[in-house]
Amino acid sequence: MATCIWLRSCGARRLGSTFPGCRLRPRAGGLVPASGPAPGPAQLRCYAGGLAGLSAALLRTDSFVGGRWLPAAATFPVQDPASGAALGMVADCGVREARAAVRAAYEAFCRWREVSAKERSSLLRKWYNLMIQNKDDLARIITAESGKPLKEAHGEILYSAFFLEWFSEEARRVYGDIIYTPAKDRRALVLKQPVGVAAVITPWNFPSAMITRKVGAALAAGCTVVVKPAEDTPFSALALAELASQAGIPSGVYNVIPCSRKNAKEVGEAICTDPLVSKISFTGSTTTGKILLHHAANSVKRVSMELGGLAPFIVFDSANVDQAVAGAMASKFRNTGQTCVCSNQFLVQRGIHDAFVKAFAEAMKKNLRVGNGFEEGTTQGPLINEKAVEKVEKQVNDAVSKGATVVTGGKRHQLGKNFFEPTLLCNVTQDMLCTHEETFGPLAPVIKFDTEEEAIAIANAADVGLAGYFYSQDPAQIWRVAEQLEVGMVGVNEGLISSVECPFGGVKQSGLGREGSKYGIDEYLELKYVCYGGL
Ligand code: NAP
Repeated sequence: MATCIWLRSCGARRLGSTFPGCRLRPRAGGLVPASGPAPGPAQLRCYAGGLAGLSAALLRTDSFVGGRWLPAAATFPVQDPASGAALGMVADCGVREARAAVRAAYEAFCRWREVSAKERSSLLRKWYNLMIQNKDDLARIITAESGKPLKEAHGEILYSAFFLEWFSEEARRVYGDIIYTPAKDRRALVLKQPVGVAAVITPWNFPSAMITRKVGAALAAGCTVVVKPAEDTPFSALALAELASQAGIPSGVYNVIPCSRKNAKEVGEAICTDPLVSKISFTGSTTTGKILLHHAANSVKRVSMELGGLAPFIVFDSANVDQAVAGAMASKFRNTGQTCVCSNQFLVQRGIHDAFVKAFAEAMKKNLRVGNGFEEGTTQGPLINEKAVEKVEKQVNDAVSKGATVVTGGKRHQLGKNFFEPTLLCNVTQDMLCTHEETFGPLAPVIKFDTEEEAIAIANAADVGLAGYFYSQDPAQIWRVAEQLEVGMVGVNEGLISSVECPFGGVKQSGLGREGSKYGIDEYLELKYVCYGGL
């Protein structure tokens, strides 16, 4: 029987009987690519195998508001970026649904804020346990909707779940203060109280972790949330809603309103300007972040902004080449170059330049394998869409036209329209696009430099500052450079720096606030000063 790929891999009978609200639609004529050539047989085999046995309860397509699954008047299609195949039709929420979700979140907030920290902690812990129990299915959902290699998707699910675990612990560690004032008959108290309803808008590149990093902290603090996931990846957000419900998180505390890109502007504006919303927490591009900051300004709301980066990766002459190459591979090619902390430009000192470029090219050829994310051994999946491929292609062509040399890669990959070859360029100069525009793809451009001052000047010329990496064996240089780099996070002889225990965030136009760590919960707490007199 011809059917949509999810129905085929999960079993239509299972879906139909256990989940009557499911709106995944069978398609006539079998698997229908949204556009472009049909996926090859090898891709289809791997994909179907990857989703076999997936829990139907997690495949939600309606919005989740006030603890109920609600369809919207319209739906939008979600596609597998590897094959272009339609995955399913998802509720396309509009302003009406957005306002209803805010109302539900506000009503829930009035009750959730009174729930004891211990109880909130316990519910978050149950949610975490359910994520771990369902980690294989959740990882498959990420691979299906984002194209991320399955091994990395498993990594994201653990990272994502750990935020719920971490904030279940932090929920019980919110302390106030007592201050002794000059007046003997008074004491000043500082209380910490939840901010209120948070509007949470997230990107497609970490469809699960970007939600729990915010929502874990928000719920721990006593806030409730309305989540608008990215158009490309709504399924992970909805699967999280199913698990939140199973965990016993009360109705209205976690709401999800998926919408198409066509509605994103209006829905974003509706939730970010609603008077019942007190906080906007956004992860995504700097351009969108600025729009949301305008919304926040008009109604004076608290904000957290996790925006784009342009991470420099500096290799000094004293560096260990093998270590630097391992770090470069990890920081550049994770999620096929589509993370905000991916190295964007490689600054390599003259004395070590040739050895580094040679070893980096060899490591790329040996270790990177482009393919469908479900295929065993794939390290580089597709980019999220063809627009993303065009951006990388444009940067490569621009660099080559201005004198850069292609060491390896350099063009679209034969596998399909969303694939690009892992690419290494040298002889790159600062007038090239790839050195001042976030790439978000598998392109590593190498600039040669002579002095430490020169490298720092190039790195700090960016108007964003999220992550930065450098490799050196000189302790004095390590302190100097770590302190001088204008970024929120520094990797010293290390290419992978994210962890729930550590503060994540940027400076300059990379954003405002920090997520994760002991600081993350503060983004969802207000300080209230109480002057207790007449003592
Ligand atoms: P994006 O275009 O800004 O989209 C992010 C989210 O904002 C999506 O849900 C999107 O919806 C929504 N959106 C777009 N326009 C909107 C508007 N006018 N009003 C309200 N919402 C709107 O970013 P992206 O291209 O998906 O994600 C990649 C960017 O995110 C990169 O710049 C990356 O560096 C950054 N990022 C930063 C971090 C961090 O922690 N600092 C982490 C991950 C990613 P649609 O999907 O429907 O367009």
